[in-house]
Amino acid sequence: MNELSAPIRLNDGVVMPRIGYGTYKVGDDESQRTVETALELGYRLVDTAEMYGNEVGVGRAVAASGIPRDEVFLTSKVWNDHHGRDAARRALEQSLERLGVDYLDLYLIHWPSPKQGLYTETFQAILDAKEEGLVRSAGVSNFLPEHLERVRSETGVWPSVNQIELHPYFNQADVRAWHAEHGIVTESWGPLGQRTGSLLAEEPVAAAAAAHGKSPAQVVIRWHLQRGCAVIPKSARAERIAENLEVFDFELTGEELTAIDGLHTGRRQGIDPGGHER
Ligand code: NAD
Repeated sequence: MNELSAPIRLNDGVVMPRIGYGTYKVGDDESQRTVETALELGYRLVDTAEMYGNEVGVGRAVAASGIPRDEVFLTSKVWNDHHGRDAARRALEQSLERLGVDYLDLYLIHWPSPKQGLYTETFQAILDAKEEGLVRSAGVSNFLPEHLERVRSETGVWPSVNQIELHPYFNQADVRAWHAEHGIVTESWGPLGQRTGSLLAEEPVAAAAAAHGKSPAQVVIRWHLQRGCAVIPKSARAERIAENLEVFDFELTGEELTAIDGLHTGRRQGIDPGGHER
């Protein structure tokens, strides 16, 4: 049952852990401490972004861990004010410098920012950096299928990953199916759905947690994995960081998965990428 503990092979052959440590709203000092904890506990994917302002701390933690660079999967993202070929390239170089590494495993466009209309050029900059070995895999975040189609038609390449808001309250079933059809891995952000309600107290989550002797957060993380998504939960607390990785010793039943699917409200907690103007 726990083939889900094996990494995923992306459409460009790069291998990525299915579960990672998210670092949004964890500043430089705290990120060094929490990422060190996460790496010690066994996480091998760390998700950061230039916008999070914590790449220095993340990089220090990776260096301090003593884990060989090629065993840690590092994701960062180019922010909205660095769209375009030259600006994205400079942003990448700055992220690498702050992180103190020679390459990123995955570099994402944080938002499509359709009003700027530059996401295709930005993606091309990432593809160029991939050619040079500065980035191993080229992905995106918060892209709608229409944005992905345009990237593909203008660059000839499907992004490897689309990191999107996804949790049982907003389960993106159609988008997940569309990604799967096109060989794009779905990575869930905001996976614990905490900003729109008390997901962890919902009955189907609590019932599955009781049935398996696991915590509600573990049930929700397991739901992501069994629905085919990579997932990057965040906590600043060591016991929760540990808990969120202990999801490979049980399996939700079909009925449990369906009951959790039933929590879908159709409402995002974050911004609608189609109207994102920054
Ligand atoms: P999350 O769903 O991971 O929730 C985080 C919150 O859940 C924590 O602050 C904590 O309060 C709670 N929590 C964590 N573990 C718990 C546990 N075991 N038990 C009970 N409560 C627990 O939300 P997030 O941080 O917004 O998203 C995860 C990661 O996704 C981010 O850290 C970031 O790396 C990424 N992200 C990306 C985007 C994007 O636009 N690409 C946007 C938001 C987040």
